[in-house]
Amino acid sequence: MIAKPKGTNDIYGLDAKKRKYVFEVIDAICEKYNYVYMETPIFESSELFHRSVGETSDIVTKETYDFKDRSDRNLTLRPEGTAGIIRSFIENKMYGNLTEPVKVYYNGPMFRYERPQSGRSRQFTQFGFELIGTDDVLSDAEAISLAYNTYRLLGLDVVVEINSLGDKESRDRYRKALIDYFSPNIDSLCEDCRDRLLKNPLRILDCKVDKDNGLMKNAPSTLDYLNEESKSRYEKLKEYLDLMDINYKENTKLVRGLDYYNHIVFEIISTSDKLPSKIALGGGGRYNGLVSELGGPETPGVGFAMGIERTLQVMDELEVNFDIKDNIDIYIMYGNDNEKDTACYLLQELRMNGFIAETDYMNKSFKNQFKSSDRYKAKYLIIMNDENLKDYKVCVKDNSTKEEEIVNINDLVDYFDMHI
Ligand code: AMP
Repeated sequence: MIAKPKGTNDIYGLDAKKRKYVFEVIDAICEKYNYVYMETPIFESSELFHRSVGETSDIVTKETYDFKDRSDRNLTLRPEGTAGIIRSFIENKMYGNLTEPVKVYYNGPMFRYERPQSGRSRQFTQFGFELIGTDDVLSDAEAISLAYNTYRLLGLDVVVEINSLGDKESRDRYRKALIDYFSPNIDSLCEDCRDRLLKNPLRILDCKVDKDNGLMKNAPSTLDYLNEESKSRYEKLKEYLDLMDINYKENTKLVRGLDYYNHIVFEIISTSDKLPSKIALGGGGRYNGLVSELGGPETPGVGFAMGIERTLQVMDELEVNFDIKDNIDIYIMYGNDNEKDTACYLLQELRMNGFIAETDYMNKSFKNQFKSSDRYKAKYLIIMNDENLKDYKVCVKDNSTKEEEIVNINDLVDYFDMHI
């Protein structure tokens, strides 16, 4: 037997239905917020992720699936969605004539070579969205609100942890403060953090290895290094979040793992005390330098990504109700070839008129067809016999009341329209 690669999953049965339900909720809410679905390739030039996600990020240094194709090109399976969207934004010149911001969302597989464990796999799925072309604080608030409300519609109680990294000037001052703070004790940190100290000290705060090191607790806070403009942006954002009644809290240690963030960064955390630990269900932030970093014109943007599997896992653990249809409308039963012909016609007719219709394909006895209809949880049965069929009629049985009615075949669609 050939097994699936480590860190991947087969998704089928009820799990697949739950997942589809989550996608439907996502599609519906994105439509309300006026975001348009978009797809980019699952693999891109390796350089794209080096330039966007950052040379010093864990994702790029340790976790990417890199390969060469048959023409020796360096390619990478995408570890996240924003870089591809921004590449496409530039390549397709979506920046031309930006009278409105570009608002897009995506949903698809991402790949990171991580140690597989609960909530962490090598192929996973992210829903994400990007709002490109405006720097207005209201667009930060919109991004947080869309992320937050998606979880709420899925039935999860969450809190949005927020922090501001400020503009470039603020970020540079903060960077220096971190170097000054960590330098004297750098030996107590892990090897990666020693490497991060000069390349990207913000990342030290994000380190999975050193997260419990006492040094982290008293590390400088970003907020003390914000200049006036960055500070007032952040205050305005909090006003907007209050106006939208969004449950948020400040986390001054939140920096997020990717290089491209500035101003607002945020993460969505489940607030349920039934979960063993704090679980990050998704995160995002503003990335004003990214479009120009990737060769486009200076264009601001903000975005968010949600881990689908982790969200589903938490929904399961908290026994959230999935609004999943697991029954069919009509099961058609027949006893001979003539009736089977009518079943064939009826299946087509009923399905094309919007009903979920099913029949037997395994030459089952009548008794076993009844059993099948129960397994499918059919609301109605169509039961044929030669006598009724001569008058172009069938018997329709309501499976919940057990009442039966003889209905003309031409009237069946109207009948079910009224009853289902
Ligand atoms: P990130 O792009 O790292 O900010 O991740 C955004 C969200 O994707 C996280 O909050 C997780 O829910 C999810 N995620 C990230 N990495 C993995 C992984 N290896 N397996 C499953 N979900 C992941």
